[in-house]
Amino acid sequence: MHRQSFSPVVVDKRQAEIVSSVPKHILIGGLWQPAEDGNIFLVENPASGALLAEIANATPRDGMRALAAAEQAQTQWAAEPPRYRGEILRKAFELLTRDKDEFALLISMEMGKSLSEARSEVAYAAEFLRWFSEEAVRIHGRYQKAPDGATRQIISKNPVGPCLMVTPWNFPLAMMTRKVGPAIAAGCTMVVKPAEMTPLSALRFAELMMSAGLPDGVLNVVPTTNASILVSGLLGDRRLKKLSFTGSTRVGRILLAASAKNILRTSMELGGNAPFIIFSDADLNAAVEGAVQSKLRNIGQACTAANRFYVHASVAREFVEKLARRFEEIGSGQAALTGDGIGPLISDQARHDVHALVKDAIACGATVETGGILPDGAGYFYPPTVLSNVPATAGIMQMEAFGPVAPIMAFTEESEAIALANDSDYGLAAYAYTQNLDRVLRLQDQLQVGMLGVNTGMISDPAAPFGGIKHSGLGREGGMEGIDEYLITKYTALASPSEQA
Ligand code: ADP
Repeated sequence: MHRQSFSPVVVDKRQAEIVSSVPKHILIGGLWQPAEDGNIFLVENPASGALLAEIANATPRDGMRALAAAEQAQTQWAAEPPRYRGEILRKAFELLTRDKDEFALLISMEMGKSLSEARSEVAYAAEFLRWFSEEAVRIHGRYQKAPDGATRQIISKNPVGPCLMVTPWNFPLAMMTRKVGPAIAAGCTMVVKPAEMTPLSALRFAELMMSAGLPDGVLNVVPTTNASILVSGLLGDRRLKKLSFTGSTRVGRILLAASAKNILRTSMELGGNAPFIIFSDADLNAAVEGAVQSKLRNIGQACTAANRFYVHASVAREFVEKLARRFEEIGSGQAALTGDGIGPLISDQARHDVHALVKDAIACGATVETGGILPDGAGYFYPPTVLSNVPATAGIMQMEAFGPVAPIMAFTEESEAIALANDSDYGLAAYAYTQNLDRVLRLQDQLQVGMLGVNTGMISDPAAPFGGIKHSGLGREGGMEGIDEYLITKYTALASPSEQA
């Protein structure tokens, strides 16, 4: 049995009821079942360290059985009318909206974000179901005459086939619906491997999908602590046709290499290192609010989180002071969980990693404007932290901090800010505050990112194509592009009819 040391169970009655109602087993072919070897693993609450649940720990053979179930369901599922698939997603949207408080509490308990943030995640997750319920009936092909007139060409979009989805812990529900939604709309079956730290919302969501009428075998869920063996087994199996992964660039690279064997279709949402640029003509108060949103959302544990701040020298001091005051107002800690403050980081290791980056920045000459101190007490909290005068060479400017720390450096020329922003292997998101439209158009052309927020700190939207370039990944999720990731293009050449009957 996989065991770690935990403090005793501490949950209130409502929390206990919700956790006890979640299925704790693997879902294969519509049947909830224990792991083949009967093993379990433990899930903890990062706000208290308390044990939340014991979950069936799928073996690599369970993974294979899940793939077999997905493959068995594939032909029939692909043959269902698009409207039928769309209606199931619509029903799922309605059920998730109805049960939003329960899901929010579950996410908050297993992942640590505050209840208000968890509610936002549920709403965001539900929107993917609504969006793709609408996209299911808009999978278009083409009909055309060949230029030389010899053939008529029928171009169709067909489901790619059984998919594997590997999801992260930072948005345990939304990252699942962002993949499951388009796969269902496209007519694909799937095996989902949720992050081991946050399997509860995935299991509860799978149950909801069954209530929405999803046929057995379309969605299979295999939580496990054996991710690398289970996943590599599936990637090496020719029945699998597609991998969609959200997580670190390090693991993404491993999975891409393993996908090469069977030339798998892949969608990779990997790490980020988003620059947040404030020009001299920015509305500074709006920039502060955008920075709070982009930096502190999910306690900084988002791949789109602003990771490094470049502020024009003429407004740098004012921005630093305003941001530090806002971060102090927000605060973190147990009390924050039911209010608007920020929750704990996902693990003790995570906050020590963040703290090490802060200490390194200080050693490189940075000034702590607020925060920067490891708190005592239960839970993996870290205070919202502002660092000024951070040199571009400090580790925190170069790697994804995944914590509530805003490192700030001043610049003087637009070209300098763009060069600093582009000086990264990552290319997911960037943010800019300016009133100058010409500059916005230059940034759109010159910033090496997949997504740019102008005068906003929030870019994620189910209707827009989410994704990165460079080491931030391949493919797009959401938008009209999202469903294409689950479709293959086929073409038939039909000999043109003779001129006379
Ligand atoms: P993070 O650093 O945010 O935890 P990871 O990339 O480690 O992100 O994890 C994202 C997802 O990938 C999780 O579901 C995790 O279990 C899974 N994972 C981690 N390592 C591997 C691996 N070697 N093979 C397959 N999946 C993995």
